[in-house]
Amino acid sequence: DITKWWKRTERNIRVFCRVRPIFNSEMKGVIDYIGKDGSLFVLDPSKPQKDARKTFQFNQVFAPTATQDDVFRETQPLIRSVMDGYNVCIFAYGQTGSGKTYTMSGPPGRSATEMGINYLALNDLFLICDKRKDMMTYDIRPNDIRTCSSEDDGLSLPDATMHSVNSTMDVLRLMEAGEVNRAYFYGARTWEDTSGGTIRSCLHLVDLAGSERVDKSEVTGDRLKEAQYINKSLSCLGDVIYALAQKNSHIPYRNSKLTLLLQDALGGQAKTLMFAHLSPEEDSFGETVSTLKFAQRVS
Ligand code: ADP
Ligand code: MG
Repeated sequence: DITKWWKRTERNIRVFCRVRPIFNSEMKGVIDYIGKDGSLFVLDPSKPQKDARKTFQFNQVFAPTATQDDVFRETQPLIRSVMDGYNVCIFAYGQTGSGKTYTMSGPPGRSATEMGINYLALNDLFLICDKRKDMMTYDIRPNDIRTCSSEDDGLSLPDATMHSVNSTMDVLRLMEAGEVNRAYFYGARTWEDTSGGTIRSCLHLVDLAGSERVDKSEVTGDRLKEAQYINKSLSCLGDVIYALAQKNSHIPYRNSKLTLLLQDALGGQAKTLMFAHLSPEEDSFGETVSTLKFAQRVS
């Protein structure tokens, strides 16, 4: 029951944090503790042990041992609320290599148990459509939006293609086509029809670009411009979510194309879930803290 699920916080923004496994066993980790209550301790490797610990608090934290199914089960009530007319936006944030695509799509060459939220969510929606098919007719249309342009700072929308879909397989095919391109922003929308009237709602599933700050000495030219553009979009996204969380009267959607695109998905009665992804290795400590701060600011 979405009402109960959401009431726990009485706000429209929730933050889940997910920590991926350490792959190189030689590396030291900085995540010291993951609590069932959503708390997380991080150790600053540059400080003496007694001062090293920083605590963060989120709605939920997933340890490296969490399965795709564990993550999906916590997300499912939110996804199902789309069928009741709520607009929902789920997005993955974190530095490159922290597990954003793993959460949203799954690993490359994924097995059935490794499918990510994109797949599980749509599968679940089709399942419900089927269950309710005597009472309602649903029309589900994913909308595939991609942009990784640094030139267009304007507010025009990028080319978006709309596809009617009837099964999870249709959606999978669309998603896979999207993954071939270097996707900076990928969205899917759902519309539903009921026979009595029309409910229209959308589900946005967004695999954001890496949040790492770029070192100007390492990249130049177009690559630098693109990286700066991405950083700016992400910081605008943070500002919008922060303003929404504060219930400010002015929400700065127009500051970036990303936030403009997500305007319907982020405001009003819409429900937003952010997955903050962490790479637990010591050498990612700086980015880990910056992801945690971004996530803490909006939660
Ligand atoms: P990002 O999209 O943030 O750049 P990826 O999702 O590509 O990161 O993850 C980087 C690597 O780590 C990939 O090989 C991915 O399969 C693996 N990985 C990420 N998260 C997990 C996880 N929770 N469990 C197992 N492997 C993971
Ligand atoms: Mg990725």
